[in-house]
Amino acid sequence: MSTRCGIGYDLHRLAEGRKLIVGGIELPFDKGPVGHSDGDVLAHALCDALLGAAGLGDIGTHFPGTDPQWKGANSLLFLEHAKKLLADKNFAIEHVDAVVITEKPKLGPHFPKMREALAKALGVSSDKIHLKAKTNEGVDAIGRGEAIAAHVVATLSSR
Ligand code: MG
Repeated sequence: MSTRCGIGYDLHRLAEGRKLIVGGIELPFDKGPVGHSDGDVLAHALCDALLGAAGLGDIGTHFPGTDPQWKGANSLLFLEHAKKLLADKNFAIEHVDAVVITEKPKLGPHFPKMREALAKALGVSSDKIHLKAKTNEGVDAIGRGEAIAAHVVATLSSR
């Protein structure tokens, strides 16, 4: 058995009048990510981490931002597609570790639901999905509440 790791990062600007969806869950907040899809930074960074670990390019390769079929798309669909691509190459998801950075709202209370939603999309148990929340200590665009970002490391195994 061999093991491979992939890294993913994403950032979206936050604007009023958009739904805040993180990890497939809609959170009560007055701003949400600007993006072609639903702007789910955690799902996007996770997708890139998985594709990277499998050597399958990135989210833009598989889901071009210019493609009208992904306008407003639920980003869990990207993860479901990534899961199939990984399975085709005999990769299994061993572990996902993520950091989501936003000044507000508090994400921790929503983590159980996010882990469940992400795990379901990936066809793994939720104990393989680990989530952490950080603020940016009031510094830079994230600290001013203008953006939300996520970093994800995914570990795959293959036989
Ligand atoms: Mg994105």
